[in-house]
Amino acid sequence: MEKEYHEGMLAGEHLAASCVGTAEGTIAEDTTATESKRIVRYQDSDGNIHYGIIEGETIFQLANEFAEIAAGTCSYEGTEVALGDVKILIPVEPSKIVNFGWTFAGHAKETGGTANLKEPFLFLKPQSALIADKETICLPPIDLTNKVELEGEVALVIGKSGRNIPEEEALSYVFGYTVFNDVTARDLTKTDPQFTRGKGFDTFGPIGPWVVTGIDPTHLRIVTTLNEKVVQDGNTSEMSLSIPFLISWVSKIMTLEPGDVLALGSPSGTCPMKSGDVVTVEVENIGKLTNYVK
Ligand code: MG
Repeated sequence: MEKEYHEGMLAGEHLAASCVGTAEGTIAEDTTATESKRIVRYQDSDGNIHYGIIEGETIFQLANEFAEIAAGTCSYEGTEVALGDVKILIPVEPSKIVNFGWTFAGHAKETGGTANLKEPFLFLKPQSALIADKETICLPPIDLTNKVELEGEVALVIGKSGRNIPEEEALSYVFGYTVFNDVTARDLTKTDPQFTRGKGFDTFGPIGPWVVTGIDPTHLRIVTTLNEKVVQDGNTSEMSLSIPFLISWVSKIMTLEPGDVLALGSPSGTCPMKSGDVVTVEVENIGKLTNYVK
């Protein structure tokens, strides 16, 4: 199957409906629909921004905007670039970054939250918080916060617009999955009446490096290292609320748009970071998100 896909790309064919497994109306006929793909957003050496499909160490450049890719159209026009020769950017430009807190009981307990919630604990981050793989988390001045912590998470990316989404259809609204670090000023989230300030500083939303489609999100191991020492080791199978429930629940509050990010919550092991640290969140079947702290 991968060979057929490759030959098609090299022949410059338009690979309609081959880049995503969730596009409406394409699944029954498209035998590649459940194949997992890595979709990256990047800047080439001329400064132009593109999406592409990664195969090995090669990016096959696409002519499409995110909404087209999410709707199932990937048009390859013959340009390949080496993954190592481009600047990887944040993988999507969401209208909102929805965050679920305390979805893991261990993390709820260690931060003074509520474990085993019946309803999700919800907050938003601004788009200005997002940074890409290999970019730097900038610690705010010490008079604003002196306790900035990591939270390694899986995030999902919405593929099609939806409101009041039934739980049983929720996963069909997902384009794919990526890695997220819900950087948190813990002193502020403990004292402020809500989370906006403690979660919302610029650079407090590392995301990427790419989005992976066609994987099962329910059993993904999450391992976070701080200066190569393991500090978090959890699995999405330990979440106290299911992913379809979270999508359905939040869609009753706000319309979900293509590219929107839903960060699914952190396992236990959150800890402070200091200038000079290197933090890596690795999620099984997705990849590694590495950021520097300054
Ligand atoms: Mg979190």
